[in-house]
Formats: sequence, structure tokens, C-alpha cells
Amino acid sequence: MTGTRPGGVSAGADRAGGGQRVPGTADADSRWLAEAIELSRRCPPSATAFSVGAILVAADGGVIATGFSRERDPHDHAEEIALAKAALPGSLPAAGGATLYSSLEPCAARASRPRSCAELIIAAGLQRVVIAWLEPPVFVRGGGAVRLRAAGITVTEIPGLAPAARAVNAHLLTG
Ligand SMILES: [Zn+2]
Repeated sequence: MTGTRPGGVSAGADRAGGGQRVPGTADADSRWLAEAIELSRRCPPSATAFSVGAILVAADGGVIATGFSRERDPHDHAEEIALAKAALPGSLPAAGGATLYSSLEPCAARASRPRSCAELIIAAGLQRVVIAWLEPPVFVRGGGAVRLRAAGITVTEIPGLAPAARAVNAHLLTG
């Protein structure tokens, strides 16, 4: 039943010669997002929360920070870890030009901690978020993308990578 793997996710096209690291092009966005999905595979297993990976990339294509769910603590969300490592909120010099890649839509509400990832992203001054998968209504309602857009942040969805992001969480979706 599983075992479907989207083609062409890993290597990508190298003909552009380096330009695909800089966020904003379709090639670069797909590549970084695929790396975020790879990170999600490192999450400690959970029966009650999704496995998510996130990468914060500067405007010049340099990685600022990465994070994955439950990386330091069972309540950790991938996006908040990446932002925390970058010394956010509020003090990231390149925040304005950085892009946050997340395998799942950032949460708009959460039970475990007072601030949702959407709120943290807004507070950090980020202006662009790229996601693979809109949060399904398994644990909480989604709405993070709507919340971010309402704050003026550009949210780009790459649906072609959603199956890969979902596959990491297949055990939560089939029960
Ligand atoms: Zn979150």
C-alpha cells in the first residue's frame, strides 16, 4: 500500500549550476523542501504528533538553522526549533530575506505551548514560508497558512512534495 515514492525528489536538476540554492526559484524551493522532509525522518516516533522537518534558509542560499519535531523535548515543533536556533524571535539579522521551509503547514494553535509556530514566524519577521503539506485535521485544526498570509507573509505550497511529507507520518493517518 505504501511504497509510492515521488520521482525526482532527491537529486534534482543540476543544470542550473549553483543557482538552485537561492530561495525563490522552483528548483531551489523544491530542493530545500525535500531536505526539510528528509529531516522529518529524524523525529523521535510519536503516536500523538506529526513528524515535521524545517530549514531556515537565508536569501543568499545559506542554511541559518534546521529543526525537527521533538528534537530536544517531546513538545518541540520543527519550526520553533529552527527559529530558536537562529536566536529568534526578533534578533535574526537576515530575517527579512530568509525563507522557512517546513514539511507541514505551521500550526496556528497548539495545546502544548502558548505560542503557535505561526505566531513565532510572524514575530521573527520572516516574510516567506514554503510548505509541502497542509495540516490534516487529525490532532488540531490547521489554519497556519491562512494566519501567516493574513500577516502579509507569502506562503508557497508545493503539492508535489506532499506525498513524501505524508509518507513519514503514514502511521498516524491510517489508524
Ligand atoms: Zn507548530
